[in-house]
Amino acid sequence: MNLLEIFWDFWGICLEWCCLKSKGSLELKEATKWKDIDEGFTESLQKEWKNRGFDHKEAKEWIEGGFKPSDYDLVFYLKRKGCQPSDSYLEESVKEVSWKDIRPDFKCVHRRKWEESGINYEETKKWVELGFKPHDLYLVKEWKKRGFGYEEVKHFLAAGLDNYYFWDHWEKLKFTSHQVQEWLFIGMKQDEWNLANYLREKNCEWEEIKNNLTNFRKEYSEVDRKEEKMHVLSKISLEVISELKKFNHEDLTPEQELLVDELIIDEELRQRYYRYGLCSECYQPNTGKEVGINGWCQSCNSKHFQDEFKNWTSGNEDINKFIQKQLLETKSEYKIVEWIPYEKFSNVKHIADGGFGKVYKAQWNEGPIIGWDKDSKKWQRWDKEEVVLKSLNNSQNLTEEFLREVSNYKLVDGDSFYGSIVPCYGISQDPVTKDYLMVMQYIPEGDLRKYLSDNKVNFKDRLRQLYWIADGLSVIHRMGLVHRDFHSGNILNRKFNDDVVCFITDLGLSRPTNEKDKENVYGVLPYLAPEVLNRKPYTQASDIYSFGMIAYEVLTGLPPYYDREHNLDLALQICQGLRPQFQIRIPQLLKDWINRCWDADPLKRPKARELKKILDDCIDEISNEKHTEFYEQWKKMELLEDSGVLPSMKTVKTHPQAIYTSRLFNYQNLPEPQNSKEINEQIWASRDVNIDLDGIDSGDDQSEQISCVEAPLNN
Ligand SMILES: [Zn+2]
Repeated sequence: MNLLEIFWDFWGICLEWCCLKSKGSLELKEATKWKDIDEGFTESLQKEWKNRGFDHKEAKEWIEGGFKPSDYDLVFYLKRKGCQPSDSYLEESVKEVSWKDIRPDFKCVHRRKWEESGINYEETKKWVELGFKPHDLYLVKEWKKRGFGYEEVKHFLAAGLDNYYFWDHWEKLKFTSHQVQEWLFIGMKQDEWNLANYLREKNCEWEEIKNNLTNFRKEYSEVDRKEEKMHVLSKISLEVISELKKFNHEDLTPEQELLVDELIIDEELRQRYYRYGLCSECYQPNTGKEVGINGWCQSCNSKHFQDEFKNWTSGNEDINKFIQKQLLETKSEYKIVEWIPYEKFSNVKHIADGGFGKVYKAQWNEGPIIGWDKDSKKWQRWDKEEVVLKSLNNSQNLTEEFLREVSNYKLVDGDSFYGSIVPCYGISQDPVTKDYLMVMQYIPEGDLRKYLSDNKVNFKDRLRQLYWIADGLSVIHRMGLVHRDFHSGNILNRKFNDDVVCFITDLGLSRPTNEKDKENVYGVLPYLAPEVLNRKPYTQASDIYSFGMIAYEVLTGLPPYYDREHNLDLALQICQGLRPQFQIRIPQLLKDWINRCWDADPLKRPKARELKKILDDCIDEISNEKHTEFYEQWKKMELLEDSGVLPSMKTVKTHPQAIYTSRLFNYQNLPEPQNSKEINEQIWASRDVNIDLDGIDSGDDQSEQISCVEAPLNN
């Protein structure tokens, strides 16, 4: 009997068992606790085992044979097949029956569904590797229906298109899959098929599109509005609504799913229903997610916002218009920009002076909107929220600058998983100075440099931090922006249980990729790419150079060039090819990509989403103890950390002229940036070497030794 037959037999027995149960012939007689077998033996699980004829002794044997209390059905099945708890092949058959080796949550019932759809073990494994979960079978089926296998879907996912429904729109406009991928790779979003079509018809040069995406976006939205092609939301009928109201969109049975597929013919509406459910007011599918219980309905909520326009004014016509437009167009709560009167804040405290204005901490007594309460006809709000009020000096006269920063935040907000960029809630005004204030979420653990020096952070958590930073940067870049002042002072940390999440802040200097600023160079010297020091345009690749510096700082504990003056001399050497040296061993793989970030040629640097992927893989290899080269290198690192050698800003002396706040530079006539091994050997070898790494295997080959040359820790 082959395993598939065993599997079908299993279903037969389960069915048989159901009949048995209904006859009541195996009633529960006693209720002794079986916790001594396994902590997880709840009373109801115990009942399930007993109902299948297992006593304490027998259950214990099976559990000791490697099964879990929740495996009663499987064990019942195996016992009926004549297996013994001690049979060595059991583990294999468990795998075969449930496909648990593909994913721990791949249950028998999932396997049956996938197989019934003609997808075998090998293929299922491939789809799961792409990130599909056992219950995502319907998505896989939809992709296959369109003629795509996992290889093609992999390309789509890498390009940023994660749903067949978006592909349908592109296809309708006669884009090939290859073309769609090309458009996405230059930064187009997966739902911008209309924009792509517009640009294609306009016959724009590819390079021009690539460099001017943000402007083209603006241009298209104007055209779109003028032609009154405003997207008319299609609707589902009343009969369908009355059917759907009986379901919970988050917990549909397979039968209900089939019915939904039949009922909602329009692809977009169906997708919205699956993702966000029905609006509790108009019963049409919601347009986005919100933190509260319900989804977000643009059509209903924009009306509620509009009704309130008469109740507030910022005192500035441009700001009023900006907020109103944002509120009318928001498809989810993440895009809300509210006017928040200053009296809504309490405990306002001055906490810092930023480069362009003051920073206050305050309590916002109501907190941000999470949805509309149709009973009380009021906005439902999150509880009290700690916020930061950021002023821009003289902002009543610099509305454009001020709104640009808010607009940058809103462009990226809600587009990352659950962090990565500090959320901005709205705008307020200081009643005394009349400066406008940006209302941001307060991120308690402070900036990255402070966090690294105040906390003992293990290597895996450091990788996690870098992952979040790469995630935030990839969102910023995907939206066509360049950060332009990217350093560890602009990255904030928040602890979530045992995890720490990083948020990028200070998008005040961020500009669309095409906007060139020929004036002055602004930033923190060690993080500025050589081409920027050399007065070439600031590009996304320049942000990547800065990311390399941040990664260096996170992984080694020390900011770059902390022990020397940040002056013209340093700028000169950076252009000549000077880069920080690793004072401690870090896995070669990480060293290699950091070196790529630092390449003098911006075109050779990796993309943010590539960095995110590398970091994700590294974390995965450590978490799942995959015995890769990287994992082995990391194991040695762990030793190092345990010995307490990893330095921090607290254990070293920094140079008084090492300045880590942003400032203006105006260096002239710096040499063309280049890579140079020589300058690194020359500069670093001339300095004392005194970090003692005894006890750590210092590497196996000569090149490793060179790249591990230690820099001085001043003492
Ligand atoms: Zn609605």
